[in-house]
Amino acid sequence: MSEKIMMNWGSIHMQLLKKKILEEGQALSESILKVDSFLNHRMDPVLMHEMGKEFKRRFQDEKIDVVLTIESSGIGPGVMAALELSVPMIFARKRKSVTLTDDLITANVYSFTKKEANEIAVSNKFIGSGDRVLIIDDFLANGQAALGLMEICHKVNATVVGIGIVIEKAFQDGGAKLREQGVRVESLAKIEALSLGEITFVEEREGAIHE
Ligand code: 5GP
Repeated sequence: MSEKIMMNWGSIHMQLLKKKILEEGQALSESILKVDSFLNHRMDPVLMHEMGKEFKRRFQDEKIDVVLTIESSGIGPGVMAALELSVPMIFARKRKSVTLTDDLITANVYSFTKKEANEIAVSNKFIGSGDRVLIIDDFLANGQAALGLMEICHKVNATVVGIGIVIEKAFQDGGAKLREQGVRVESLAKIEALSLGEITFVEEREGAIHE
């Protein structure tokens, strides 16, 4: 399969990620990227660890108390970011569980890949007023997952210090929606366009830290 490659290499961490996306990613359509071999099904722990380091580098000027993500694909990058930042990580749960007996903070999220609405929930024991939260997720498409996680933070008066995304599909409107609200969004790889057999990255300034 021939792939046209258009990119401008960024930091070393992002280089590894972009290389992996180009080598193993599959554009299933003009809007869906499959990266099951290293992010969404099988996970590459070395690459995940590099992502954690890169999130730490980008948010090193912020005080962060906790990383918040959503099950299941946010957990890998989320826990690596939390490890590097030396803070706990919480993942919002999508499925009810008999062990989830605490008072829950909830939000409704429409899933881009499953095409269904889910109630996501976090125990009020683990997040609260004054907490400074870094939200992490694997993909940013229309921003529904990130907005749901922000809603949970707002419900308990926690502060969202930023959002870290592994792969932002810049041709969808999630990034604009979140940035319009004044939230800092840092994406390790930004995709400009997908078509069958072709993945095009947004060109980025070398070493750029802020958007
Ligand atoms: P959003 O909520 O921003 O519309 O979509 C983000 C969520 O949908 C992520 O949590 C991710 O799991 C999933 N997602 C969105 N687009 C893609 C994609 O192109 N590929 C994969 N594998 N997951 C995606």
